[in-house]
Amino acid sequence: MSSLPVLVLNSGSSSIKFAVYEAGNGERRKLHEGAVDGIGTDLGKFWIKDAEGNKLVDQTPALPNRAVAFALVADALHSGDFPAPVAIGHRMVSGGPTVQENQRITPELIDEMESYTAFAPLHTPIAVYIMREALRLFPGIPNFVILDTYFHRTMPEVVTHMPIPPEYAAMGVRRYGAHGISYESIVYQLQPDVPRKLIVAHLGNGASISAIRDGKCLDTSMGLTPTGGIISGTRTGDIDPGVLLFILRKIAETAESASAAADQLETVASKKAGLLGVSELSNDMRDLRDAIKAGNAKARLAVDKFTWTIAKWIGSYVAELGGLDMLVFTGGIGENDIASRAEICAGLGALGIVLDPVRNNVRGEALISAENSPVTVRVIPPAEDLIIVNHVVRLMGA
Ligand code: ADP
Repeated sequence: MSSLPVLVLNSGSSSIKFAVYEAGNGERRKLHEGAVDGIGTDLGKFWIKDAEGNKLVDQTPALPNRAVAFALVADALHSGDFPAPVAIGHRMVSGGPTVQENQRITPELIDEMESYTAFAPLHTPIAVYIMREALRLFPGIPNFVILDTYFHRTMPEVVTHMPIPPEYAAMGVRRYGAHGISYESIVYQLQPDVPRKLIVAHLGNGASISAIRDGKCLDTSMGLTPTGGIISGTRTGDIDPGVLLFILRKIAETAESASAAADQLETVASKKAGLLGVSELSNDMRDLRDAIKAGNAKARLAVDKFTWTIAKWIGSYVAELGGLDMLVFTGGIGENDIASRAEICAGLGALGIVLDPVRNNVRGEALISAENSPVTVRVIPPAEDLIIVNHVVRLMGA
C-alpha cells in the first residue's frame, strides 16, 4: 500500500487555489484544499481545510506579490503538518501550437509555453510563474502540465481552421478552445452512459459551450484565446472584427506605441467588455440579478445578451450534432443561477429542450428537464481536480 499525495495547482490573477489528493492504489481522495487569496493586498487570506471542511489554517497575511503567496503554500506543505506531495499537476489554459499533450514540466517546456503567451494572455504569465516557483520550491518532485486545450484536440479541421491568410495560420493561429478540463470532467462523470449527442455549457466568470459527440469534442465556442465565443463576465466573445479595428484606431490616436495600443485593446476586449461593459455595473451575475430586481435596464440588457447568445449557440450545436440527447449546465452561473438556465432554455422547446421549473429551482447537481422533455437537461458541477490527478497518475506511470 503506497501513499501518493498529488498536489493540484490552479492559479488566477489574485489567488492560488490548491488541493492535495491521495492517489495511491487507485484512490482519488481529497486530503486537503486551500487557497491564498487577495494577492497584491495587505489583507490577504490563506486557509487550508481538511476533507471534512475543518479549517486547519486560517490566516490574514499581507500578500504583496505572488512569490510571497506561493511561498506560504510551499512552507505549509513542507511543514510536516500535511502529507508532502510526491507530484504536482498544474492547470494550464493553453500551451500554444507546439504543446498539445499533457506532460512532465521541464524549464525548457516552460520557456516554450511562455513564448505563446498571446494565446492566453491573461493566464499564461501567472501559470508559468507558478511552474518555475514549484520547480524551485519542490525540488526533485515531478511537475506536470495539464492543458485545457487537450480535450479539444479532437475537433476537426473545419472547426479549428480560421479563415485567415496562411502565414498567420502557420504561426499557430486557430481555434484551441478552453475550459477543456471542466468538459473532460463532465464526460468523465457521465460515464459509462455518455450520451452520443451532448452539449455542455460552462458558465462561469469566463463562459464557453461545447458540442461533444461520443464523448469527444466536436466544437467549442472559445477560439484562439478565451476572449472568443460567447459573451462572458468581462470579455466580448465573438465580435465583428471591424469593431476591434474601430476601437484600435481610436486608441491609436493617443497611444504611445503600437504595442501600447494593442495592450489597451486587449484590456478593452478582455477586461472591460462582456456583462461588465454592457451593464456598466458588474461582471458578477449575483450583482446583475439584484440590479435587475431593482429595475436596472442596463443589467437586464447585459443578462439578456448573455442568455440570448447561449441559446443561439445551443441551436447551432444541435444542428452540428444532428440532434441532441443531453444538455449540461456547469460553472458558477450554470450551477447556481436558476434564472439564467430558465431564460436560456425558454425558447428552446422546438429543439426538444423543456425544463421543469420546480426541478430547475435548485443549486448544484440535479436533473432539471421536464419528465416528457425529449432532451435531458442536467446540472453537474465540474470535477477539474480529479481530472488533473488522473492525468498526473497516468503520466507518472508512463
Ligand atoms: P470562474 O470562471 O472565475 O471560475 P465561477 O465558475 O466561480 O467563475 O463562476 C462565477 C460566476 O458564478 C459569477 O458570475 C457569479 O455571480 C456566479 N454565481 C455564483 N454563485 C451564484 C449564485 N448563487 N447565483 C447566481 N450566480 C452565481
